[in-house]
Amino acid sequence: MNKNVLRFKKAVHSFLKEMKSDPYKLPYMGDNYHCPVCKTNLAYFKPIDFELLEMADKYQSVYPMFSFETINMFKYSCPRCYASDRDRMYALYIEKRLGNTPAGTKYNLLDIAPSELKVLLKTLPYINYRSADLNNPRADDKVDITDMNIYENSRFDIFVCSHVLEHVKDDIKAMKELHRVLKPGGWGIAMVPINTSIEETFEDDNIVTDGDRWKYYGQDDHVRMYSKKGFINNLQQAGFKVNLFGVDYFGAAQFERHGIHARSVLYIVEKI
Ligand SMILES: [Zn+2]
Repeated sequence: MNKNVLRFKKAVHSFLKEMKSDPYKLPYMGDNYHCPVCKTNLAYFKPIDFELLEMADKYQSVYPMFSFETINMFKYSCPRCYASDRDRMYALYIEKRLGNTPAGTKYNLLDIAPSELKVLLKTLPYINYRSADLNNPRADDKVDITDMNIYENSRFDIFVCSHVLEHVKDDIKAMKELHRVLKPGGWGIAMVPINTSIEETFEDDNIVTDGDRWKYYGQDDHVRMYSKKGFINNLQQAGFKVNLFGVDYFGAAQFERHGIHARSVLYIVEKI
């Protein structure tokens, strides 16, 4: 961590120097990285909020901090649009998969509990965007993911459901709802925090206090810690075909350029 702080200080120092020579250049701009969400060339990505590490330490997290599958602790968020590393990975995938969509074709996309990625999704000409959230009044629809009765069967071509299911008690019911509202042939981004140090998903009804949830689930509003196998099994149980895309698919240089850690994996589910 100290090394990182030092690196950050050094970077700030060089921005200030650059600013003197070009006063119109914003401090985060540079040539080292690129954010595919806000399309900005960057000097750096921001490290993750220290609070996460402090809480893990305070409540004695039982998991090794660097065994989460998709998270870049040291290059976490874009200093301009705040997109996280996973948002950047979704942006790369969506543009890779849909970038050549013929003019006039539009896909209905459902964004569950929208992240910063929504800014990009709303600008893409081939996306008809709709957002849903249980609590956020700014979302288009107020929806409980385990009962999305306001949407008819096969309403959407694509969904984004990122870092939602680890908050939901009946996650398989939620996955079945995602499957129901998707068209046959449709696909979705389904992501949760996954800890690669465990074989089986860990969930225990006796874990109810905030402290215990930090300790065993990694956050006080999570209800389980997924293993890779456990998450894939649940998605398959809900009827999805699951495809994984990692560094071999995107390329090491692409991951590096966009601040995505080499161990990151994108889960794309399909309704056959
Ligand atoms: Zn950005």
